[in-house]
Amino acid sequence: MAAPITTISDSKDRQGLNLIAAHSHIRGLGVTPDTLTPKPSADGLVGQQKARKAASVILQMVKEGKIAGRAVLISGPPSTGKTAIAIGMSKGLGEDVPFTMLASSEIFSLEMSKTEALEQAFRKSIGVRIREESEAIEGEVVEIQIDRSVTGSNKSGKLTLKTTDMETLYDMGTRMIDSMTLEKVMAGDIISIDKASGRITKLGRSYTRSRDYDAMGPDTKFVQCPDGELQVRRETVHTVSLHEIDVINSRTQGFLALFSGDTGEIRSEVREQINTKVAEWREEGKAEIVPGVLFIDEVHMLDIECFSFINRALEDELAPIVIMASNRGSTTIRGTNYRSPHGLPLDFLDRVVIISTHPYSPDEIREILTIRAQEEEVDISANALALLTKFGQEAGLRYAANLIMTSHLLAQKRRAKEVDSQDVQRSYMLFYDPGRSAKFVAEFQGRFIG
Ligand code: ATP
Repeated sequence: MAAPITTISDSKDRQGLNLIAAHSHIRGLGVTPDTLTPKPSADGLVGQQKARKAASVILQMVKEGKIAGRAVLISGPPSTGKTAIAIGMSKGLGEDVPFTMLASSEIFSLEMSKTEALEQAFRKSIGVRIREESEAIEGEVVEIQIDRSVTGSNKSGKLTLKTTDMETLYDMGTRMIDSMTLEKVMAGDIISIDKASGRITKLGRSYTRSRDYDAMGPDTKFVQCPDGELQVRRETVHTVSLHEIDVINSRTQGFLALFSGDTGEIRSEVREQINTKVAEWREEGKAEIVPGVLFIDEVHMLDIECFSFINRALEDELAPIVIMASNRGSTTIRGTNYRSPHGLPLDFLDRVVIISTHPYSPDEIREILTIRAQEEEVDISANALALLTKFGQEAGLRYAANLIMTSHLLAQKRRAKEVDSQDVQRSYMLFYDPGRSAKFVAEFQGRFIG
């Protein structure tokens, strides 16, 4: 198998850039870590405390790996922070936990079938943490902490050794152990260094297999000393998504497709081979699965075939948690003549946990617009902010937020440092919100084509 070349954290940065720009102010869910209580305004998120609390409970379960294969629906009117909350969750996931964003309309493309697009989105959301062991090279900083309690001495305390040089490492490591009147590291000894704590443990001779040795987890690094020569084994861990492994191993695609994003369809045999390989790595302790999050926006845009695909995919052993968002009430399920809540089939809705978001109070709108203005580095007067808040209430938060930049440009034109209400008013006249646009179309229907 070819070596994986991208990691989840790289690809996380690239995914859904345009979706994220409007949410660049969001840094997390803004909850206190121990009680998961949402603060009124924190991490860029304002209000929606019930939804944020629910999201943080789910996040906690994702982090503990307990919630793979479930589906969550965030439902609420437009611009009530459904996507913002999902982004907040993604910020709280570990660096190597995959988070994939999919706008439902994206799957209706000519390049691949809907189910292939969904399958790829699912597999982008499953991480495979792969361990590779190799010999540490000279010049590399290796840190060892010697905890006397684990080497059989009744003395406690830790010593840390940091060196870039293998010879020094060997000498000092030996001397340190010596000076504590502990056993000396001998040729043929096997020592483990715990990856997390850097703790060194003498496990026995290479030809004996002590109980400790057998019980050692896969995170352990070894220092082995055959014939007096110290060998430091270093373990590196990369996380890649199942989709990345699929693409790299797909003969028709090749890894360059990862950069263009144009991966085309991947044959099911390739995926089966990869699943078998990953299962083998897991057995051998070389890899573990990291279930991530797949966020599907505007989920009512999916049709009945997609829902049955998702229903089945959630049953799979390798399933991420699926978080969906919808701003529709009761609507037709695409591909059928049936209406249902949020346009989701009832059997699917049955297995979904629902979080709802609610319209904002004027104070909350003002606070969100203030945060957005700071994020866009726009100075804004109190009057202008009040007017923007009013437009936010009438025409929606997203519309009001968009007026920040246009008002700023108008203020710059009149060489003002700060946006004032006249700039906001002029922006409002220049750029229609959906409500006024619909009214305009209705009024002049006869002059439009069609
Ligand atoms: P839609 O149903 O139209 O897709 P949505 O519920 O997903 O809307 P968002 O896109 O999350 O709404 O919100 C619109 C804008 O307001 C975004 O820029 C978002 O970051 C911001 N926003 C929404 N709610 C909050 C909040 N509670 N705190 C801070 N910013 C928010």
